[in-house]
Amino acid sequence: MRLSEKVALVTGAGKGIGAATARRMAQEGAKVAVLDVDLAAAQAVAQELVDAGYQARAWRCDVTREAEVQQVFAEVVAHFGRLDVLVNNAGIAGVNKPTHEISEAEWDAVMAVNVKGVFFCTKHAVPYLKKGGGGSIINLSSIYGLVGAPDSPPYHASKGAVRLMTKTDALLYAADRIRVNSIHPGFIATPMVEGYLHQLPEEEKARKALEALHPLGHLGEPDDIAWGAVYLASDEAKFVTGSELVIDGGYTCR
Ligand code: NAP
Repeated sequence: MRLSEKVALVTGAGKGIGAATARRMAQEGAKVAVLDVDLAAAQAVAQELVDAGYQARAWRCDVTREAEVQQVFAEVVAHFGRLDVLVNNAGIAGVNKPTHEISEAEWDAVMAVNVKGVFFCTKHAVPYLKKGGGGSIINLSSIYGLVGAPDSPPYHASKGAVRLMTKTDALLYAADRIRVNSIHPGFIATPMVEGYLHQLPEEEKARKALEALHPLGHLGEPDDIAWGAVYLASDEAKFVTGSELVIDGGYTCR
């Protein structure tokens, strides 16, 4: 019960890392707002949690739409009474092409979700966190926000931006007792990574090569990241802000 009495809102929580985070936070005693652009996916996760005896509710929320974010966050606070934890998890991989082949629309699509979405959600969570006397914002960056790789240029740019947005907001809101940290996962077996592998010519060979990039020899699981988010959300991390929690099987050691 590391998160008892806390209300946590997780974006993009219908599947993958977000769903695992919603589950672990609920099991640790949080009341969880399960948000996703895919309402059916969010509802399935929330229903599973309610059936297991936890407090959860689903909302449709596209993080690229500010009015929707503002409205849904108000509904979450009206429903659960407060907000303590925001997990900015919603994100997309976007196109995997060299920079000179990417269109403006393809670039903007990634920035809209991965960067502007984090901005909108942080902007509309902060007043509630302040009102509650503090809180924890957890931003999903990536190893691609720390080091380069010869693929997915807009994704790298977006995750680098999230890394620094985290540090700026950590400084801006420290006096309000709002902690802001980023998590940097290596490759985690989620629908996003399965989709990435699937579009490569030799999928199984590519999977083995991807696994080999992680010194521990395999991809991560959504729970590997969810436990990091639980820690950053909890009071165990009360002196942790502006930090980069790298959970990558050793990918960035080299
Ligand atoms: P995922 O399996 O694709 O799940 C992401 C969820 O976010 C999906 O349910 C997706 O819905 C939703 N979503 C997409 N656009 C949205 C929007 N505009 N508003 C609200 N929700 C939206 O992704 P994941 O692998 O769990 O990744 C979660 C986060 O971790 C992302 O920020 C990602 O960049 C980051 N990350 C992942 C990895 C990895 O290896 N998996 C590594 C480093 C960082 P739809 O499926 O309907 O679009």
